[in-house]
Amino acid sequence: MSILSPTAATAPSELIKKRPKLLTAERLKGTKDRYDLIVIGSGLAGLTVANRLGRDGHSVLLLEQHYNFGGMATWFKRQNGHIFDISLHGFPVGMIKTCRKYWTKEIADSIVPLKSIRFDNPQFSLQTTFDREDFTRILTQKFEISPENVAGFFDFARSMNFYDDQKLTTRELFQRFFPDRTDVWRLLMEPIAYANGSTLDDPAITYGIVFSNFMSKGVYTFQGGTDLLIKSMKAELHKNGVDVRNYAQVEQILVEGGRAVGVVVNGQRISARAVLSNANVKNTILDLVGEEHFAPEYVAEAKGVRMNSSSTQVYLGLRRGETLPFIGELFFTSTHPTFDSEALTALECTSRTYSFYYPEIRPGTDRYAIVASINSNYRDWADMSDEDYLRWKERYAEDAIRSLERYLPDVRAKVEHVEVATPRTFKFFTQHALATSFGTKFEGLKVSQDLPKQLPGLFHAGSVGIIMSGWLGAANYGVIVANEVDRYLRGAPDAVAKETA
Ligand SMILES: Cc1cc2nc3c(=O)[nH]c(=O)nc-3n(C[C@H](O)[C@H](O)[C@H](O)COP(=O)(O)OP(=O)(O)OC[C@H]3O[C@@H](n4cnc5c(N)ncnc54)[C@H](O)[C@@H]3O)c2cc1C
Repeated sequence: MSILSPTAATAPSELIKKRPKLLTAERLKGTKDRYDLIVIGSGLAGLTVANRLGRDGHSVLLLEQHYNFGGMATWFKRQNGHIFDISLHGFPVGMIKTCRKYWTKEIADSIVPLKSIRFDNPQFSLQTTFDREDFTRILTQKFEISPENVAGFFDFARSMNFYDDQKLTTRELFQRFFPDRTDVWRLLMEPIAYANGSTLDDPAITYGIVFSNFMSKGVYTFQGGTDLLIKSMKAELHKNGVDVRNYAQVEQILVEGGRAVGVVVNGQRISARAVLSNANVKNTILDLVGEEHFAPEYVAEAKGVRMNSSSTQVYLGLRRGETLPFIGELFFTSTHPTFDSEALTALECTSRTYSFYYPEIRPGTDRYAIVASINSNYRDWADMSDEDYLRWKERYAEDAIRSLERYLPDVRAKVEHVEVATPRTFKFFTQHALATSFGTKFEGLKVSQDLPKQLPGLFHAGSVGIIMSGWLGAANYGVIVANEVDRYLRGAPDAVAKETA
């Protein structure tokens, strides 16, 4: 008998058959013929750009192909009151400032710290608040590294910025401060690999910036759950006059006279003075625009951009009335001997991070849920037959429960709903190249930033360059690009008006 809940055992190929009938012109009823800005995609970057520009008085249309808004900052509900968050595991404290400034005080005030993060692997077992002070304690007392070395590492990581030497890799950084101490490397690297898909061979600045963001004050979450966050963001967008549409598949970005002038969405043409894509940067350039509109060198650069890894997740919903003892909110587990980026994404899964959702995450409810997240490669899952696909999903579910029983022996009996999402699921719901969960490798940032130079009126904001991924990175990149779009809209001649004059 399948371990998966009956409503969860569908393969994405079955979902795909349902999609076309949703793409009707109905979804666009009442839209205007033209806007100042069209935003393609409602990830945290797209939402933030739309809100910032709507608030400043620009007319903005936000188009999302999915039924839900939020991109990977999303959730889903199942019968018997189960609710699962996809990417609400933790983000740095900086999200409070970003939300207060570019969203609302209420959203910022709902961001709260996690209390406890745990690790269990063949090299160590420990519990931490995941900040500089506690990591210093662990590194000096448990791992017996000298305080000077630990302080030197933290200060160096903190001082790293975008203009630094980009040749130094994270592996070289670790080797410089903690030679051959693979246990220390694992403590420092494993959580960041789960946060943004980076590896020991990525540029050290990507590690330094993200790690230091977390270390400043630990890991934070959104109290109320992703559903409340996105509901609050939608309310704010409406208040700021943004026209928000779901089931709106953008098929093409229109180019005329060397400028982006609008989109084709669900078969309908809508004009705009500027277009911002929150879709994957490669999809934007190569599919939505088309390479013929760019210089060949830029196309080559775009084609060379590598994606970060994708994800598999196992969702476990506890039966109403069942409870869990508090064992921390985030638990990094592995049976692999050392930290190994290849092993971390291998189909034969040896490492998973459990997120525990206690009732406090959604005050007023009494429900518990557990989500096991695994870094995965799209290519391992893409071409499986439906039979193999379901077999692997079953295996991931069974392994996630069995591994959890080591820490919570009675958990299996408490679980009522079991469901698995794979890179194929993420591809279906986001359309990202290689189903990337965390955008692109470092080189993607330059390609994203150069887009308006290549094609005036077209901007990109979304997970790129490792630094600009995750909730905070995506939202902050949205803020940076929104400022550029604002300048463009205020300074640029009205291309559409000129065209139609
Ligand atoms: C399993 C998992 C766990 C994660 N955990 C964390 C975590 O704990 N902490 C953290 O900070 N980050 C986490 N992340 C990463 C984080 O969720 C993302 O980096 C961030 O949400 C991405 O935002 P984005 O703006 O890049 O857009 P995305 O979320 O990628 O959204 C892009 C949107 O564009 C839409 N779109 C694409 N093409 C089109 C088109 N042609 N027409 C219309 N719409 C289109 C998509 O449907 C999607 O809604 C996780 C990600 C995953 C997958």
